[in-house]
Parts: sequence; structure tokens; C-alpha cells
Amino acid sequence: MKVRLLHTGDVSPGHVRSAFSSLAPPLVPGETTAFRNSLAPSYDRSRAQYDAFRVLESVPAPEPDWLNLLLVGVDLFVPALTYVFGLSHLDGGRGILSLARLRPPEESEISESILVHRLRVEVAHELGHAAGLVHCVVTDCAMHRSLWPESVDLKNPEFCASCLARFAQP
Ligand SMILES: [Zn+2]
Ligand SMILES: [Zn+2]
Repeated sequence: MKVRLLHTGDVSPGHVRSAFSSLAPPLVPGETTAFRNSLAPSYDRSRAQYDAFRVLESVPAPEPDWLNLLLVGVDLFVPALTYVFGLSHLDGGRGILSLARLRPPEESEISESILVHRLRVEVAHELGHAAGLVHCVVTDCAMHRSLWPESVDLKNPEFCASCLARFAQP
């Protein structure tokens, strides 16, 4: 399954590379592309955040056997929650992910390596949803549900055996 990583201008080239170069099987790096659509229509003034559903709708549907993931720096929300890391169309081939809430509070070399780990885990998570995978009970599987950034640290950027098997099913 090939991955197209779209990214907005506020995502550093290093983070694009980190997200793309370490994709776990069965995900295969396809291409990275700058995202040309404006996120401005998705901005919610009252929340000072971006509406994740509207951002997701702005991501083009991929061709068969491809997944499109948009990586953004801006903060995302859905109406019922304070924030979301990302959002995907289950089995729809497309998803979005934000770096905003994955960032540790202080900047240091250690916090950068934590951020890169979280980025890799949640890239796998959203791509898994986009490919049709639901949440997984295995605590270190990328498809395990995380509600806060620290819980992402306990996961691996890979899929457990049962999630891997589910990828293979049509
Ligand atoms: Zn999820
Ligand atoms: Zn799993």
C-alpha cells in the first residue's frame, strides 16, 4: 500500500522525512507533496482551531492502492473534543495528522526525539484507519487508542500481528 504524504508549509522538511522514511509494513513510501489547498476555510474563529472534518474533506481521494495523509502544524478539533491528533475516513484512503499536540512542552534534543517517535506512531495510526483498521487492544500497537500525548510514547510505530493480518483482508 503506497503512501502519499501531503504537507503544509508549517511542517519542517525534517519532520516530513521522519514521517515518511520509517513507514512500517505493509505501508510503502510513495511520494511527498506540498499541499496547495488553503486551510483557511476550515478555521473556526470561536475556537481558534481548525475543524478536522473540514480539513479532511479538503484532502483529495487517492487512487486505488494508495493512501493520502495530510500532515499539518495547526491545531485540530472535532466538536465533542478539546483537540484531536488526527482524523481519517475509515477505509476511505485519506487522513490528516497534526503536530500541534504531539510536541512536548519544552524544546530540547530529547523532546525532539520524543516528537519524532510520536509522529511516526500517529502517522501509522491514521494510515491504518484510512486503510480500514479500527482501534486495537494491544497496548504497544500503533492502532491502540491514545487520548493524550504521553500515551503515544508507549506505542510502536508498527502494527501488531492481528492488525497486519487485517490489512491483507479485502
Ligand atoms: Zn484512532
Ligand atoms: Zn494491533
